[in-house]
Amino acid sequence: MTKQTTVIRNAAWVVTWDDAAARHVYRRDVDVAFSPDGILFIGDRYDGPAGEEVSGASLMVMPGLVDVHCHSGDEPIAKGLFEDVGTAALWGNALYEYSALIDSDEDAKAACQTVMLGDLMRSGVTTLLDIASPHPKWLSLAAESGLRAYLAPGFREAAWNVVDSHRLDFEWNVAQGRERYAQALAFVDEASAHPSGRIHGVVAPSQIETCSEELIQEAVGEARKRGMRITIHAAQTMAEHEELLRRTGETAPAMLERLGVLGPDLIIGHCIFLDHHSWTRQRTRHDLERLARSGTNVAHCPVTFARSGMTLESLGAYRRAGVNVGIGTDSYPFNMLEEMREAMICSRVAGRSVFDLDTAGVFEAATIGGAKALGRNDIGRLAPGAKADLVLVDLNQPAMQPVHDPLRNLLHCAAERAVRDVYVDGRPVVKNHRVANLDYDGAVRELQAAQERACRQAEKDDPRGRTIDKLAPRSLPMAGAR
Ligand SMILES: [Zn+2]
Repeated sequence: MTKQTTVIRNAAWVVTWDDAAARHVYRRDVDVAFSPDGILFIGDRYDGPAGEEVSGASLMVMPGLVDVHCHSGDEPIAKGLFEDVGTAALWGNALYEYSALIDSDEDAKAACQTVMLGDLMRSGVTTLLDIASPHPKWLSLAAESGLRAYLAPGFREAAWNVVDSHRLDFEWNVAQGRERYAQALAFVDEASAHPSGRIHGVVAPSQIETCSEELIQEAVGEARKRGMRITIHAAQTMAEHEELLRRTGETAPAMLERLGVLGPDLIIGHCIFLDHHSWTRQRTRHDLERLARSGTNVAHCPVTFARSGMTLESLGAYRRAGVNVGIGTDSYPFNMLEEMREAMICSRVAGRSVFDLDTAGVFEAATIGGAKALGRNDIGRLAPGAKADLVLVDLNQPAMQPVHDPLRNLLHCAAERAVRDVYVDGRPVVKNHRVANLDYDGAVRELQAAQERACRQAEKDDPRGRTIDKLAPRSLPMAGAR
C-alpha cells in the first residue's frame, strides 16, 4: 500500500471539508496524503510512508466534481449543427425537431463516449451520471476510464414527432418500450455488480411525457427495491409542460408527487419549467416546496438551455427554497467548469442580482449537491476517510494569476486550462492535462466521419425531407454562394 500512497507536499491551497461547519473551507500550505483506500491525511506534516511525492508549491488541491447529468450517446457529434436553430412554434427549442435527428451509429458510440469521458475528466469531473442507450462497450469503457460512473440506460414508450414544424406528437410503442425497460433492468444489475466498485446502475425512464404513469411507477418501484437512484427528464421544455397540463392538469412535480415518485433517491433532469417560471401560465409557487419537502434532487445543466434562450429561475432561488441541486453538463461541450460558470451567470441574470448565487454556492452544488443526489457522503469533499477523488489545479497557469481566491479564478476565468492532474480512488485519470487511460485522440479523429454519417441519416429521417444544409445552415455563407 505504501507504494500506492501519494503525498502532495505543502499544497499552496487546499479546499477541504469542515465537518462541524458542514462546508468547504480553504487551508494553506498543508500536506495531503491519499491512496486507493481514500484520503489518509490533510494537515501540517504527513510522516507516513509514501510511494510518490508531489510538490504542492504551485497547486490548489480540490475535491473532484460530480456531474449528475450527461449524455455520451450522440452529443459529441451534434456539435456545430443546431446551435442557431429551433422550432419557433415550440418556444424556439431545438430538441424535438433538430437534435433528436442526430443519432450516432454503433461504430460511433464508443468514440462519442470516449470523447465525453475525456472532456469531463479534463474539466475536473471524477463522478458522472451518463444517460444513454446501452452499446456493447458502454460499461467496459466507463470502467477503463477510471472514473466513478453511474450508468443510466434510458427507456421510453413514446417517440417524439414534430409535425410541420409546429406540433409535437407522440408515437407510442408500448411493447418496444417494455422490452427496453427489461433490458435496462438487466443492465443496471450487471453494472452494479462490477468488481471495480466504481460502476453503478441508475433506473432511467427517459422523459416524464414519453413513459406511461404505470411504467414510471413500476420502474421507480424496481429501483427502490434495489436501492438504486432514479433519474428522469421532467420540466425540461415548455412543450412538455403544456403536454402534461393537457393530459393531467398538473405540472411535472405535481404529477410525480401524485405518482408517489418524488423522494431523495430521485434526480430530476433540468426541472426548469415549474409553476413559478415566468414562461408558464401558472400564477402559483408550489413546485419548489414540493421538491424541497420530498428531498427530490435537481440536475441543473444551464449551458444547453441558455444556448436556446431559456434558463431555470433561479439556481439561487431553488437553493434558498431548500431544494438540493447538483450540476450536470447534459450535452457538449462537456466542460464542468464552464457549466458552473454559466450556472452562476444564469442564476444572477434570472435572479436579477449579483447576490443570487456566489462562487461557494455553485462549487457546493457541483460537489456536495451532486454527492447528496447520488446518496453519498464520501465524495465531493476532501476529508480523511473520503474517497481519494481529487483535482490538482495549476496556479502558475496565466489565467490563474494573480491569486487572491483560486476558486474564483478557476470558475470565472481559467476553467479546464488550469486542471493539471485528476485522481479517482487515488489513481490518476488525467496526468499533466492528458487523459491517462483512454485513447482520447483516436476517438476525436473518428468524430468527423461519424458526424457525416449521422448527417446523411438525418436527411433521410427528417419528415420534411430537408438536406443538412437546410436543417443546419452554416453560420456564414460559403464564399461565392448566392
Ligand atoms: Zn438530458
